[in-house]
Amino acid sequence: MKFFELKNNLKARPIIYIDMDGVLADFFTPLAKHHGVSHWRKARRIHDKVDKIASKPGFFSHLKILSNAKRLITGVVKLAGYYSILSSPLQAEVEQSSKEKSEWLQKHFKSPSPHSVLFDHEKFKYARQANGTPNILIDDYDTNIYLWEANGGIGILYKNKKCDQALRQLHDALTGEFKHTYNVPLAILQKKIEQATEDVDVHKKLWTNREVIKYVKSIHDDYKLTKPILAHKTWILKMIPTNELSSPEHYDQDDPYRRVIDLDWDHISDITKHDIMNRPLVADNEGWVLDGNHRIAAARAAGIKLVPVLVPYINNQ
Ligand SMILES: [Mg+2]
Repeated sequence: MKFFELKNNLKARPIIYIDMDGVLADFFTPLAKHHGVSHWRKARRIHDKVDKIASKPGFFSHLKILSNAKRLITGVVKLAGYYSILSSPLQAEVEQSSKEKSEWLQKHFKSPSPHSVLFDHEKFKYARQANGTPNILIDDYDTNIYLWEANGGIGILYKNKKCDQALRQLHDALTGEFKHTYNVPLAILQKKIEQATEDVDVHKKLWTNREVIKYVKSIHDDYKLTKPILAHKTWILKMIPTNELSSPEHYDQDDPYRRVIDLDWDHISDITKHDIMNRPLVADNEGWVLDGNHRIAAARAAGIKLVPVLVPYINNQ
């Protein structure tokens, strides 16, 4: 019998999801090395080809295994009996990157093999089971952990060097003694929002590109991403599902605007439903958020399904 079954304070067994890039696979060193910089984020700020490198066939299947990856999996299996994989695919190459990641897992983690393997960049959707049982995510990206916890799961922020610490946290999580990595923004959760509906304050109002720029500059006076706004003369305010919007805080997505956003969660916890509903986001035709990365993160954390967004107007809308 596993340890977890002996001391189970939770209603049902949580699923233990483990991230790949930065937890099991060394995704970042090849990118940083390629550009001769110490950290991949610097490479992304300087160059605009990081995603092209990751899009090349073979990139994911040739990644090296991190030094503590086996230790982590062995420890998880010892504590919980099994593990699952939850990894974000590269958005431009979803099929190719998912296939290569699967092959990589078969090569390095044949035994013990994962119970299930999911490729989805919206990890937070798996934070809880239908019966409310929180699942556990081990991930190296703080935004993933934050959104996971905001959606009712238990998040363990991971670093290869701190594998033992993560296993201790997992032990605590399985015995009901876990302290959350972050303070979930209660201001948002307590206002937990009846789902916005199509009829919430949606005026089919058309905006000129100049008006859109004036609007975003009224929020951020140093707003720089004006080019994609100027590219469309007319914009329209619509309610759009949050899951159809992309924002660059998912670092292993390939943001076409090459941004690296360090989300300020103190700021996000101050964002209210009123802010989200009365300050439309701005997004391009593909759903990439051009303005409002903190608001979309707050909306996701609060479980808001539809948000007002200014998007380029196309005649058939
Ligand atoms: Mg990762």
